[in-house]
Amino acid sequence: MKPSRAHVTACRRCGAPICWTLTTARGRRQPVDAEPTETGNLAVTQGADGLLYVRSLTKVHPEPRPSEWRAMPHHATCSSPPPRRSNRTGERARTGVRPVPWQSGRP
Ligand SMILES: [Zn+2]
Repeated sequence: MKPSRAHVTACRRCGAPICWTLTTARGRRQPVDAEPTETGNLAVTQGADGLLYVRSLTKVHPEPRPSEWRAMPHHATCSSPPPRRSNRTGERARTGVRPVPWQSGRP
């Protein structure tokens, strides 16, 4: 299967086609690549409510069901991923570019 066009949107960062899904485990939103891929470690399916749901493929159940397709998490392929905090020394300098808190202008 493939995601229907209604689910495909563009990544705000790199413009690649992605689908927003909900994780079956926690109900969190997760972007996945819109194009199914054999090497993806996720199984995506469209629920009865029309939303896309994603689960991780495991060693016990490595194959997607017929109603699912394999997808790659977009985090893994995004060419312009969001900056990570404190994953390296030296990134602390970014703290200075934070916008002024909005509360500061209040009476
Ligand atoms: Zn992207």
